[in-house]
Amino acid sequence: MSEEFDSDFDDQRLMFHPSALAYWQEHDVSLGPIYTEFELTGKCNCNCIFCGVDYLVNKSADTIDTAVAKRVLDELHALGNRSVMIAGHGESILHDDADDIIRHSSGLMSTSLTTNGLSLTEDKLPLIDGLKWMRFSINGCDPDNYAVIHKVRPEMFDVLLSNVESAVRRKRGLNLDVAIGTQLVLLEENAGGVTGLARQLKDLGVDYFSVKPYSQHPLSNHHLTVDYDKHVQLAAQLSELADDSFKVIYRARSMAKVSQKKPYKTCYGTHFLSFISASGDVWECNVFAGDERFLIGNVLDESLEGIWRGEKRQSVRKFMEEDMDIAECRDICRMDECNCYLWRLKNPLDHDDFI
Ligand code: SF4
Ligand code: SF4
Repeated sequence: MSEEFDSDFDDQRLMFHPSALAYWQEHDVSLGPIYTEFELTGKCNCNCIFCGVDYLVNKSADTIDTAVAKRVLDELHALGNRSVMIAGHGESILHDDADDIIRHSSGLMSTSLTTNGLSLTEDKLPLIDGLKWMRFSINGCDPDNYAVIHKVRPEMFDVLLSNVESAVRRKRGLNLDVAIGTQLVLLEENAGGVTGLARQLKDLGVDYFSVKPYSQHPLSNHHLTVDYDKHVQLAAQLSELADDSFKVIYRARSMAKVSQKKPYKTCYGTHFLSFISASGDVWECNVFAGDERFLIGNVLDESLEGIWRGEKRQSVRKFMEEDMDIAECRDICRMDECNCYLWRLKNPLDHDDFI
């Protein structure tokens, strides 16, 4: 792993792509996405109580064809896309050819994986070799707690920790570059065990442990509320575990933003992001996948470049920029910080010239 990676997960990194920004400022369109989320299958082996995309998970048998997936990755690369996160509304490594597809992506662009880790058995582990980072989503803190939150058998907690340990062993044995992280969504149901879990993960040798807030998805059937003020002491308790080889990322800034009014009126962030689901559908916004207002095409029918520059996408953009009410959006979506930055570029404040 390179010596440093930016562990401020609450910040945005668009400003490190100035030529893409300059083009967008001049033309009001982008040449292509910089970052893409790519879902390989909509199947999942969990049924988490906080799942924001419960309305999509396991609702279809969609799994993307391997040849199509590789062609799409080639097209993304040709469009100038820089990074791919293998993730979506399912557990992507349940795809039979996940290894092949992920290796193809890693050979072209910076690639990452988010996974619940239950299927990352020894035989599948080579798929992590070319990744920049991978993140295990672990939201239960002991076998019983894990069973309650992920709705799987309690024994699966130990299976998961064993898979995490194997990934760390492979990384160290082969001196891989991949950062191995873990992430927990802080809920009332798991708050009591968070510090113990972090200690366990540190002992297993992961590179970081991050804690993020639950964010209500506008289309989700789940509706949870969490009082983050009540758990504020966790940040200090967890920081005591941090050292040079184990980072703790407690996302207090995101927690503070939950339910706050967004400081921008328009979403410009998706000029730089694309989301491709396992059915081949391409969505202007990853949050609103499944909502036809945001569907811009399907990679089975046309090229990604055709979709990106096509009329359908332009009409979706027009809707987003002229008619959409930003209050409909997810509390703290992936593009939130990017949107704050882009809004300010379009609508500078009086003193912004005083750099
Ligand atoms: S592992 Fe992820 S996709 Fe699967 S149910 Fe849980 S939150 Fe949803
Ligand atoms: S601001 Fe709204 S439209 Fe834009 S990415 Fe977030 S949820 Fe999607």
